Amino acid sequence: MDLVYHSTRDTSLRYSPSQAILSGIAPDGGLFVPSFMPVFPLPLAELTSLSYQDLAHVIFKEFLTDFTEQELRDCIRVYDDRFDTPVIAPVVTAGNVHYLELFHGPTIAFKDMALSILPKFMTVAAQKNKLENDIIILTATSGDTGKAALVGFADVPHTKIIVFYPKNGVSEIQERQMVTQKGNNVHVIAIEGNFDDAQTKVKELFADQELRQELAAHGLQFSSANSINIGRLLPQIVYYFYAYGQLVKDGKLQLGEPMNVTVPTGNFGNILAAYYAKEMGLPVGKLVVASNENNVLSDFFKTGTYNRNRDFLLTTSPSMDILVSSNLERLLYHLSGNRPEVVRSHMQSLSKEGMYEVAATMLEEAQTFHADFATEEEVAAQIRSVKEETGYVIDPHTAVAAVVADKYQQETRDQSEMVVVSTASPYKFPEAVVAAIDPTHTPESLLSSLHAVKKWSHIPFPPAIKEALDDPILHETVVPVAAMKQIVRQKLNIS
Ligand SMILES: *Cc1c(COP(=O)(O)O)cnc(C)c1O
Repeated sequence: MDLVYHSTRDTSLRYSPSQAILSGIAPDGGLFVPSFMPVFPLPLAELTSLSYQDLAHVIFKEFLTDFTEQELRDCIRVYDDRFDTPVIAPVVTAGNVHYLELFHGPTIAFKDMALSILPKFMTVAAQKNKLENDIIILTATSGDTGKAALVGFADVPHTKIIVFYPKNGVSEIQERQMVTQKGNNVHVIAIEGNFDDAQTKVKELFADQELRQELAAHGLQFSSANSINIGRLLPQIVYYFYAYGQLVKDGKLQLGEPMNVTVPTGNFGNILAAYYAKEMGLPVGKLVVASNENNVLSDFFKTGTYNRNRDFLLTTSPSMDILVSSNLERLLYHLSGNRPEVVRSHMQSLSKEGMYEVAATMLEEAQTFHADFATEEEVAAQIRSVKEETGYVIDPHTAVAAVVADKYQQETRDQSEMVVVSTASPYKFPEAVVAAIDPTHTPESLLSSLHAVKKWSHIPFPPAIKEALDDPILHETVVPVAAMKQIVRQKLNIS
């Protein structure tokens, strides 16, 4: 029986992998989940010799059952030349943890791991389903996703991408990265409002029937590059297997011995991929969920109650400032024993009351997870102490995970090797890194912060930083939230 996809809210319908990728989200609002969890088909010993690309092929073949060998190879080729190291996802040991560096792609944040290949998946899926329309990717970003999606989709035939970002809600580097984006199919628009305003409006536009009909009349249709797309989840499974292989190869792990992972978590996509890797047979011990002060998830894993009714806090790890972690819905489905009625009732109560409580049996099933959070003071102290003790410089998102990994090890005395997932280059958040390492230093400018990061990390400016600083600004449109629909029409020439 071939693997297909179901909605987390209704298992009666079957979707092919390519349909699931094109749709992004199921028609009933649920997320696509595989009809069964495939087992990793090779002996684990092979992990020490497979290239990243070959490993990706082995894993994608299990999940993308309607893609041919050749189509998979063509997609995977994006990893050949877009990353600054042939290993794609290196593991660096510093102190008593191993950092899995996922920031060697074109935008120096981990979103590249999936967003570089998603456009390829979509193009193949469109051909397979004989789609005649061009695909319009519409997305709201709080920073990292926007740039990674822009780079991924730039000049991809039969696609266009429109990115909305909050004018005063992203860092200077993030804004410069987006407004300098080249490509004849890209549109970057700042809005006068915050990320939530942008996100809510984008969701409205997706559901807007009038707009859909106008698009269809012009041979266009929307799709989503959001992290709920199964095409973003699958590429993230690969690097957990790859990290394990590297640790075994380096003699830091015995074959078969469990490794723990700590993941700085926002929308729950990255850590869900680690859970999938474990379910496929990778020897993963604890899955440690690390949150910043927006600690909805750590409360959930401790108490079984998910409650978004609280203040939204702005932190130095903005990509994790989130109160509704969409991908948790997939975990609920799996923990409930694949019961869509359980998911439906929790999601209903989340949208009505902003909270839900899972059964004790489900919380019991979730014991393979451990969750905790880091305060802003702890994050800064961690960046400083890691630098002082090991010379290694980490960004604030990675530091959240490092704090929580330390707490976990101290509380439990679990001696297993710990992998801390490093989701952004310190160059992406230079102001926070500088403030943490040298609180007496008052940086006069972005450039002086970047130079401080360079001095401490001994890493030359990545191309992404040079481009952000030097490339001409190509996008200057700023609109009020109320004008978002009209600007979409205008940019697509359908008004
Ligand atoms: C998106 C992001 C995260 C959160 O990842 P999720 O998959 O949403 O949990 C963490 N760190 C950085 C730097 C990110 O860009």
